[in-house]
Amino acid sequence: MSPEQSKALHDRFPALFPEKVWFYCGDGWYGVLEKLFSDIVEHAEAAGISPAVVSVQGKYGSLRVGTSEEDRHIRLLLHDAEDASEKTCEICGAPGTLLDDGVWIKTRCRWHVRR
Ligand SMILES: [Zn+2]
Repeated sequence: MSPEQSKALHDRFPALFPEKVWFYCGDGWYGVLEKLFSDIVEHAEAAGISPAVVSVQGKYGSLRVGTSEEDRHIRLLLHDAEDASEKTCEICGAPGTLLDDGVWIKTRCRWHVRR
């Protein structure tokens, strides 16, 4: 993810980032991450916990996010984000499909199929 987008998310959700985390995924998943982080913050406040985000990476075409602590609800949110990423182009954020070309598994829209 570009440094600008990554910084915007760090700035918006400071509670989740006591330490800077490198986002190993494409800019297209910005919206998926934004929703996930916002849901985690809302839940953490209600539940009285303070999970930090420790890893963000694209793996097998989907988004994997790790947190320092997780309960049932956070696991559900992480799973939802993984599902959402499998339907979202990792490059541009348009609706996409999980593609397997034998070498790479990635999620792309119809305009970015070849990238
Ligand atoms: Zn795309």
